[in-house]
Amino acid sequence: MDKHLDQKIQSLAQSLYESRYPVMFTGAGISTESGLPDFRGPDGVWTRRDKGLPPRPMGKPWDRVNPNSGHYAIVELQKLGKLKFLISQNIDNLHLKSGIRPELIAELHGNMTKLRCKRCEQTYDNDGEMAKCPCGGRLVSSVVDFGQSLPERDLGLAYEHSRLCDLFTVIGSSLVVTPAAEMPKEALMAGAKLVILNQGETPFDGYAHLRFREKIGDVLPRAVKRLKRLMGLYE
Ligand code: ZN
Repeated sequence: MDKHLDQKIQSLAQSLYESRYPVMFTGAGISTESGLPDFRGPDGVWTRRDKGLPPRPMGKPWDRVNPNSGHYAIVELQKLGKLKFLISQNIDNLHLKSGIRPELIAELHGNMTKLRCKRCEQTYDNDGEMAKCPCGGRLVSSVVDFGQSLPERDLGLAYEHSRLCDLFTVIGSSLVVTPAAEMPKEALMAGAKLVILNQGETPFDGYAHLRFREKIGDVLPRAVKRLKRLMGLYE
């Protein structure tokens, strides 16, 4: 591994070690290593569309898509007490599938495996058994379509934790869609350090304390390993 990258990974581990309130923010880029296409990456759905190319075939059905080393690195952080909250733009359910506790995540665009009550916003697994919420509300797909408003509870939690954090780590998002782009702004205004792991450019690159363009799976698991060493937990 090149020395420069090695030092940056060490620096990320150190930042996580010192952080009292680490918040992570993920976009489609974390799931590309599971075989899902992202949107604005070099080979993303929209990037290819802009070039007149069709989306790349996913190659496998959704239910056979599994979390990758990036997702599991975040689960490790949860176990180490180094994840106060996770905000995700992804609907692929891979964070919950990897073991993130449901109370620690806001899924801003919904979750393809869940239904949401139109009246009280409670979500349920889509196992085909429920037609109505106990409150009487109708159950609909929890996935947010373009133009629809985002789930209020998730959005509220995302803002709240962005303001409370002292370290805001962006993983695999180009931060161009609002309100996603608002979260790092809130964190910076509250005095948090910003770390960005994303292959493509983001509008926040100039504000980042650390900026990685490498593959997520080549950075995050190594940073977590170093963090464990700093915490005195030898493997
Ligand atoms: Zn309800």
